[in-house]
Amino acid sequence: MFNPKTLSAEEKKFLDNMINGICIIDNNGRVLFWNDSAAEITGFSAEESVGRTCPSDIISGAGVSEPLCENRCPFRTSRPDEKPTMADIRLRHKNGYAIPVRIKCVPITGESDQMTGVLEIFERSYGELSMSDQLEDMRKKAYIDTVTGIPNRRFAEESISECLDTLRLRQSGHGFSVLMGDIDFFKRVNDTYGHDAGDSVLFAVADTLRTGVRSLDIVSRWGGEEFLVILRDANKKAAMNRAEALRRAVAKRTVVDDGNAITVTISFGGTEARPEDTIESLTERADECLYMSKEGGRNRSTIL
Ligand code: GH3
Ligand code: MG
Ligand code: MG
Repeated sequence: MFNPKTLSAEEKKFLDNMINGICIIDNNGRVLFWNDSAAEITGFSAEESVGRTCPSDIISGAGVSEPLCENRCPFRTSRPDEKPTMADIRLRHKNGYAIPVRIKCVPITGESDQMTGVLEIFERSYGELSMSDQLEDMRKKAYIDTVTGIPNRRFAEESISECLDTLRLRQSGHGFSVLMGDIDFFKRVNDTYGHDAGDSVLFAVADTLRTGVRSLDIVSRWGGEEFLVILRDANKKAAMNRAEALRRAVAKRTVVDDGNAITVTISFGGTEARPEDTIESLTERADECLYMSKEGGRNRSTIL
C-alpha cells in the first residue's frame, strides 16, 4: 500500500529523480512531498513547500484572474472513484510570473478505498503558447536573474556594449554612466538571519534600485550582492545624484523576514563612459570607485 505519509528513503529518491514535478497532497490539502523537479519548475524548494496548505500562494494560479483554486483545482475535483484528471493550469513561480503546466492528478486511496490524498504530476507546458511566444519566453529567461527577477550580467554586458556603440557613433547627445553597487557587510545578513533572508534582502534591494531609476535606465544583478546600473544620458554629476538617491533609498528600506526587521546599506562606485572604453575598462573603473567607497567607510558613493 502506497502511503505518502511514510515514504521510504528509496521511494523518495525515486520520486526526486523523476523528470516531472511531483507533489503529494493529503486530504486537507497539505503538501506532504515535493520533488526536485517541482522545485525547479516553481522556484519553491521542498523546505518552502512541504507542510504548507494548498491552496496557498505556491500552488495557485496567481497572475491569472480565474479563481483556479475554487473552480478548477484538479485536487479539489479528484474523487477516489474517479480516474486521474488532467488539466492545463498555471502555477505561480516564486518570482511572481505564471508558468503554464500540464498537471495530472491521481487520487491515492487507502484501505477500504477511502481517498487519502492526491498525487500531482506536472510538467511545463507550452501548449497554449505559440512558437514565437515560446522563444520569447526562453530569451527572457536567459537574461533574467532568478533570485531578484531583474536582468542578469549577460543582459547588462550586452546593454553596455550597445550603449558604447551608440556613444562612438555619437547618436546620443549625452554620454552614459554606470554605477556599481555592492551591499555592505552582506555576509553578516546571511550569517545572522540565514541564506533565505539574504535572498529576500537581495530581492528588496533589486526592487529599490529598479524603482529608483528612470524607465530608460537598466538595473541588473552583476553577481552575488553586486548590482550594475546603466544610466543613459547621464554625465558624472547626474550619476552622482542618482547614486546618492539610490543609496539613501536602500538604507531606508526594511525587509521583514521571519519576524526580523533587516536593513542594509549599499556602497556605489561610478563613472561616465568614454568612447574608447570597452565593457571591461568601464566596469573596472566603476569597480575601483566602489573600492574607494568601501575603503572610505561604506554607505557612500564615489563617482570619478
Ligand atoms: P563588503 O561590505 O566588503 O561588501 O562585505 P560583504 O560581506 O558584503 O562582502 P563579502 O564578499 O565578504 O560577502 C558577500 C556575501 O554574499 C557572501 C556570499 O555568501 C553572499 N551571497 C552571494 N550571492 C548570494 C545569494 O544569491 N544569496 C545569498 N543569500 N547570499 C549571497
Ligand atoms: Mg558586499
Ligand atoms: Mg561583493
